[in-house]
Amino acid sequence: MRLAFLGSGAAFSQERYNGAVVVDGRILLDGGAPLLPHMHRLGIDPGAVQLLFLTHFHGDHLLGLPPFVLHHALVSQTPLTVIGPAGVEKVLETLFGLCWGEEWEAEFRGRFALRYLEAEAAGEVDGVRYETVRLDHGRRGCTGYRLHLADRVLAYAGDTEMTPPLEQLVAGADIVITEATGPGHPHTHTGWEEAEALAVRHPGTRFLFNHVYAGELTGAVHDLDVVDV
Ligand SMILES: [Zn+2]
Ligand SMILES: [Zn+2]
Repeated sequence: MRLAFLGSGAAFSQERYNGAVVVDGRILLDGGAPLLPHMHRLGIDPGAVQLLFLTHFHGDHLLGLPPFVLHHALVSQTPLTVIGPAGVEKVLETLFGLCWGEEWEAEFRGRFALRYLEAEAAGEVDGVRYETVRLDHGRRGCTGYRLHLADRVLAYAGDTEMTPPLEQLVAGADIVITEATGPGHPHTHTGWEEAEALAVRHPGTRFLFNHVYAGELTGAVHDLDVVDV
């Protein structure tokens, strides 16, 4: 499995871009980074990325998407399936309408097959079996995903506090991408020490930490890292 980290930072990081991950050149996990330039730098074809899992609707996970969908509409014209929390269609259509004005609905929206799915507790989309766990993050929470890819499980948290649902998300997973925002206990997020202790509790799992506000911790990924796992 190849994980391309287009960004690895938190919402107002100054050293890192907002987060987004491409799995095996075809699945996007959140959309915060400058998606198109960073895909280009890593040799990823944006048109081949046709499945997007969104964890929640905070700007640092969303705001790379408008140019990415415009590329789908005007350049690749390949399909895109977006799976996300309840209300995903309304949120993204509002965002794209704000960004691209009347042209979005009148001209761009119909040029490619765009569909929205609300994530269930478990399901399958475009051949990818998944389960979700509702994680603790602010008022609306965050939808963590367990993706079954070939014979392995990739767990992706998005943003979360270090609470029991995160343990549930990572239990038995082969690979985990979870956040480690900063030292101590960052509000509504996971602290470095908490993330490191989580990894110690799951010794059979490969952990990759993202959503780092500033500084360094062992196991953290960086912008434009490509990791084969
Ligand atoms: Zn975030
Ligand atoms: Zn968030």
